[in-house]
Amino acid sequence: MNSKQNSRIYLDYAATTPLDERVRAAMDAVREDGAFNPSSPHAEGRRARAVLERARDRVARVLNAPRRSIAFTAGGTESNNLAIFGTARAATARRHVVVSAIEHHSVSRVADELESQGFSVTRVPVDSRGQVDVAAFASALRADTLIASVMYANNEIGAVQPIRELSAAARSRGALFHTDAVAGAGWLPLDTAALGVDLLSLSAHKFYGPRGAGVLYVREGTPLSPMLFGGGQESGRRSGTEDVVAAAGLAEALALAESERAATSARVGPLRDALERAVLDAVAGARANGAGAPRLPDITSITFPDRDPAAFLMLLDLEGIAASAGSACTSGSLEPSHVIAALDPGTRGATIRFSLGRATKLSEVERVARLLPGIAASAGITA
Ligand code: PMP
Repeated sequence: MNSKQNSRIYLDYAATTPLDERVRAAMDAVREDGAFNPSSPHAEGRRARAVLERARDRVARVLNAPRRSIAFTAGGTESNNLAIFGTARAATARRHVVVSAIEHHSVSRVADELESQGFSVTRVPVDSRGQVDVAAFASALRADTLIASVMYANNEIGAVQPIRELSAAARSRGALFHTDAVAGAGWLPLDTAALGVDLLSLSAHKFYGPRGAGVLYVREGTPLSPMLFGGGQESGRRSGTEDVVAAAGLAEALALAESERAATSARVGPLRDALERAVLDAVAGARANGAGAPRLPDITSITFPDRDPAAFLMLLDLEGIAASAGSACTSGSLEPSHVIAALDPGTRGATIRFSLGRATKLSEVERVARLLPGIAASAGITA
């Protein structure tokens, strides 16, 4: 590694986290001894089955759920697709779906697809801080609402949603409730009973586990048709030979994330606040999206009006800072992402998401805060 790489500052943990060394060790141990097919009846297969079921148990404990309600998948996208398509395909009379306006595309595009197949979809707006209004959500529910899906926390701005209230409203209308907990995992409690959810999605690579590994919690008795047909693994919910190495890694990562959750939040939250304050103080006109409302401790999303998002990100990268755009900009256009547009359709300029993690240091935050005014000045729109 050259010195430039050594001095890079990774502030994109919400995109993906590095594999924790303890997780790597747990995966290596399984790889050496138990990485067989858990459906095989021989001794090797039984060892793999034991590894898989132990992983399921560990996940179930964190989710305060019975072991049978945990299905392993290949990630958050698959879990979200299975939750919504799976219940839609199992449904009979109910043909209405409710989602929030700020869902990840692995939820919102499933809703779009169902709409094109004849379902009706209501997209509940959020307020200017990214919060779903419980009353607006409740009034969107109908007698034929099959499922409502609202993310636990938003991955672009960190807004935490009132899941208990939303799930209770859905249940009172006989609708199912799904939450995409991918961004919230590691920061928020994942007790499915307390949250009152029927379905909940997780993705291991967001909490220092392996990529391509996810979980869908399915409350017992929830009608769900599989998307993948075959050998009937995962209680028929997800056919395909399970990746026991990945499942063991996910379980180890989740157990660590849960046991270290309070301490990590207490350390990372103040660093995020310091970064946000420094940037807002230094760059005139900058504003923090979702600030002042319930938020994850790791994310700050800052809009810099009159700045070119592509130039902004490139300049950050050249200075050794890995962050991400809170706005999907096609070349030359300054269109904000659907999340930023949902807060304020008039938003223009560059929205940058900085997301912190376990390894983030105060010195890194200070360096970014020092460099930001210059970068913001250079990213001004001159045309
Ligand atoms: N939901 C949210 C909120 C996410 O941030 C992501 C990942 N960007 C996903 C779902 C998809 O997860 P995966 O990358 O495991 O498919």
